[in-house]
Amino acid sequence: MADAPLVEDYHRATAQERHVVEHLEIWDETLRDGEQMPGVHFSPEEKLRIAEALSDAGVGLLNAGIPVVSEEETRAVKLLVDAGLRAKVLAAGRTVPGDVDAIIRSGAKHAAIFVAASDVHLRYKLKMTREAVLDASVRAVRQAKAAGLHVAFVTEDTTRAPFDFVERLYAAVVEEGADRLVIADTVGVMTPLTFRWFLREFARRVHPRDWSVHCHNDFGLAVANTLTALEEGVTSPQVCVNGLGERAGNASLEEVVMGLEVLYGVRTGIATEKLYGLSRLVEEIAGVPLPPNKALVGYNSFSHEAGIHTHGILQHTLTYEPLQPGMVGRERQMILGKHTGKAALVEKLKERKANPSDELLGQLLRRLKRASENHGKEELQRFLEQYRRIYARPGISDEEFWRLVDDLGIRTERS
Ligand code: MN
Repeated sequence: MADAPLVEDYHRATAQERHVVEHLEIWDETLRDGEQMPGVHFSPEEKLRIAEALSDAGVGLLNAGIPVVSEEETRAVKLLVDAGLRAKVLAAGRTVPGDVDAIIRSGAKHAAIFVAASDVHLRYKLKMTREAVLDASVRAVRQAKAAGLHVAFVTEDTTRAPFDFVERLYAAVVEEGADRLVIADTVGVMTPLTFRWFLREFARRVHPRDWSVHCHNDFGLAVANTLTALEEGVTSPQVCVNGLGERAGNASLEEVVMGLEVLYGVRTGIATEKLYGLSRLVEEIAGVPLPPNKALVGYNSFSHEAGIHTHGILQHTLTYEPLQPGMVGRERQMILGKHTGKAALVEKLKERKANPSDELLGQLLRRLKRASENHGKEELQRFLEQYRRIYARPGISDEEFWRLVDDLGIRTERS
């Protein structure tokens, strides 16, 4: 019995079914998809600060942005390319000659070239036939390869595209030398089980050597789907710090990494103790506050208040914590409040070497609970009002927009 583990690890029971590759390359999208989150904007200097922190934490590849978007975006990509980061710097663009040109001129040695694959995108967004998409893809990859770039070929909305077309498209770009194939669950419709089927079908038809997934969180499944992809042998998961990104965001870097490290015992090459600092840096620069209950990096993820829980934690942290907070650069917090019990109180009093009688302790606990129940909500209400004003509809307000229109002397009619 002495050697028996304190907790059962059922991930061992499924170890044979997982095919996580040995050398993963974490592909960060914070500076591209993360920045496409409504209301978020990074200056080139801010991108550099985040890129340095990402690289320092061990991220292998980072998407710096889409150079053709603007002069500033091109400057940002150049700034990151010239910074001599340990991480490889990638720039993205459509299957359009001008976009690929802009990538080449940015100096980035890694390109992600993307085109939509589903019929709804082809018919209504691109207004292109499948043959035209195929042709544009082949030409774009050829152009990028001729310039000596490492090319990742991305299809948007792969998980809602006809498989026969997906297969033809990837076969064609592989023929042109595309180095990495990216599957995007652009609107987050996959579930782990269906995605497993999809990835196996993809592997059977396309035989990718180096492949990546880009999962969105519309149904809260981005991290679960990304872990499924890793189980299927995908070599490079795309992630964003704090799960930033369009709509409900992307798979979060910290959750994917810690899922692999702690649950599966896989080394990701990430210095996990830097994750909390990275998360706070991105929170501050992006201006998108994290919910307190965000996994791993939210304020509450290593906090305990309830009496039963704090009592357990004080005896052995494994009772109510699946990992040590220090692993992600954090500290455990004991919160005093309505749910506090005696054990936590005794522990707290030790800070000042106080050791009151049982009776005094009981009185103190009753007063503490009363104080917590009367704790004013006014400050919280004021904060929430402000939060809603800013985040319910970020970006340029209607008032600001119509002022821009008026300033240009554009004639409008008020309805
Ligand atoms: Mn995306």
